[in-house]
This record gives sequence, structure tokens and C-alpha cells, in this order.
Amino acid sequence: MIITSKCEVKEIKDIKDINDALRLITFKMDRFRKFEPGMFLQLTLDDFDFSQPWPESRAFSFASYCNGTEKILVRKKGIYTTRIFDELKIGNESYIKYPFGEFILSESDKKVFIAGGAGISVFTSYFDYMKNAKTNDEVILFHIVKAKDEIIQNYYELPLSIRCFSFVTKDKYKGLNRRIDMNDILSKLDGSDYVFYICGGEEFIQNYSSGLRLAEFDSIRVENWNRAMK
Ligand SMILES: Cc1cc2nc3c(=O)[nH]c(=O)nc-3n(C[C@H](O)[C@H](O)[C@H](O)COP(=O)(O)OP(=O)(O)OC[C@H]3O[C@@H](n4cnc5c(N)ncnc54)[C@H](O)[C@@H]3O)c2cc1C
Repeated sequence: MIITSKCEVKEIKDIKDINDALRLITFKMDRFRKFEPGMFLQLTLDDFDFSQPWPESRAFSFASYCNGTEKILVRKKGIYTTRIFDELKIGNESYIKYPFGEFILSESDKKVFIAGGAGISVFTSYFDYMKNAKTNDEVILFHIVKAKDEIIQNYYELPLSIRCFSFVTKDKYKGLNRRIDMNDILSKLDGSDYVFYICGGEEFIQNYSSGLRLAEFDSIRVENWNRAMK
């Protein structure tokens, strides 16, 4: 069942600027219901009255797992996300509708996560889930960012069992200072029984899913952030 809830950012520490264009927002919701790691919400900044149609909103993956106080990671990109940066302040009320999505990460399989930029957020919901369930699942994470301050370990503590490979394309970086190559992924695998989960924009998803298919992997799930929402 989809529910609508008022939500509020409570304290200064709940708005964390990773840099000028990437913000981690923690909010408290009025009405909580359980969701699965990998699911997303619809956020509107406009006043909402239950007797009126749902206002303009945008989709955001949960970047946390069922704490009641949840997180989203927002990339300032177009008009609406700029409004979020400008208008979603401490004490302001906004509304969310949730949970949505079929990109469910809680299956018990051997996982490879491939994330482009803010696309990492959907995977942090799974890492929170792992911490919560105290599991040590085998997960290999490939994360590509332009700016080195967006490397996940700078703002999130990964579970110890995660093998994480970060790639930085724009800033100078002493680690992997380039794009993710298919060989980077294939060389880390041990066997063929992996499920691949890819989150990012259309081109990013196309690129890695076709590379994986060429390498004869067919368990590939994708969360395409560029897809049109109803
Ligand atoms: C499942 C899913 C999860 C996502 N998770 C995240 C996330 O965790 N973090 C993140 O930063 N981004 C996420 N996104 C992308 C986010 O929802 C925005 O689409 C994206 O940030 C575009 O920026 P904008 O809305 O500021 O751009 P805008 O310029 O405001 O709009 C971009 C596009 O949205 C469409 N649009 C226009 N009007 C409407 C409307 N009334 N309702 C719906 N769409 C409209 C149009 O195609 C427009 O070109 C997710 C997208 C999806 C589909």
C-alpha cells in the first residue's frame, strides 16, 4: 500500500552538503511503513491537502533503511532539485508518497553494485539493511564520481564485508582516476552466479548492461533515473 506522509527536516546536522551540488537530507516522517531496500519515494515541496490531486514531485531513492528517520541523497541538477536545495530547510514541512519500485535489493544473492554518482544512494539503503540484519553478504561495489569529495567513504561508513572500488573522473585522485572499464568488473568476479544491480542515468545503464551481456551475464537489474515518471 502506498502511503502519504508529512515529513520534516529537524536539525542542522540533517542537511549535509557533500559539495555544492550533492546533499544528503535526513527527515522525520509522520507516517511510517516498512519498505524494502532499493525502493523510492516521491517528494513534493508544495503544500498538500488530501482532498486535492498530488502536486508536482520528483522521485528519490531511499538512502537509508526503515529507521523512521530516513535519508535521500539529492543531486542539484534541474529546476526542481534546485528548489529542493533552496527551499527544503530545517522546520519546513513537505510531503512524500512511498514506497515505490521493483528494484529490490533484499534478495539473498551474490551482488555486484554499479553506481554512477548519486546513484550510490539506492545502495546505501541496502548497506543500512545489512547493518540492521547483521548480515555479511558478499557485495562488490563499483562507484564512479566526477569529484573526489563524492567518494562514498567520505560521508558513509560501509559495512566491512563490502569490497568497494571508487573511480574518480574529473579531480586528481591517487586511486582509480578514470572511468570503470568492463575488465575492472570482470576481473573481480569469482564464478558466474552474480546478480548485477546498476543505478544511474540511461547511458550509464546501457553501457554496463550491454558489456555484461557480452560477457554472458544475464542477471542484471537496473534502476534508470532518467525514466519518465507518471
Ligand atoms: C526511481 C527514481 C529514483 C531517483 N532517485 C534519485 C535520487 O536518489 N537522487 C537524485 O538526485 N535524483 C534521483 N532521481 C532523479 C530525480 O527524480 C530528478 O528527475 C532529477 O534529479 C532531475 O532533476 P530536476 O528534477 O531538478 O530537473 P527538472 O529540470 O526539474 O526536471 C527534469 C525532468 O523531469 C521531468 N518532469 C517535468 N515536470 C515533471 C513533473 N511535474 N513530474 C515529474 N517529472 C517531471 C521532465 O522530464 C524534466 O525534463 C531519481 C529518479 C527516478 C526515476
